[in-house]
Amino acid sequence: MNNQPNAVLNVKGIKCDNEACDYTDPTATLEQMDSYLNKPCPKCGDPLLTPEDHEALLGLIALTEAINELTEEDVVQIAEIAGITEEDLKDSPDYSKVTFKRVGNGQYEPQFNQ
Ligand SMILES: [Zn+2]
Repeated sequence: MNNQPNAVLNVKGIKCDNEACDYTDPTATLEQMDSYLNKPCPKCGDPLLTPEDHEALLGLIALTEAINELTEEDVVQIAEIAGITEEDLKDSPDYSKVTFKRVGNGQYEPQFNQ
């Protein structure tokens, strides 16, 4: 039994959604994200975090928490039900390093950092 979390949500920094604007704040942390909801960009005035993006982020947080509540036995059982063997996992990405890249309003795509 290890104490490593099953999943870590790496959300850091905020970027203005306006494509014509280059405002970013790389220091923004996940804990601060609520404070960015509908907050105007200091550069162009567009919202930094739209309600759709905020919803999506809360979904990712809830999903991460749910995954982390799974015990090692749960994970083994799920893998068995899904027919996943250790052999299948050999070449899989390291899910502890997944980050989510914003691909649209309220839409995120997992990115696997090697
Ligand atoms: Zn902006």
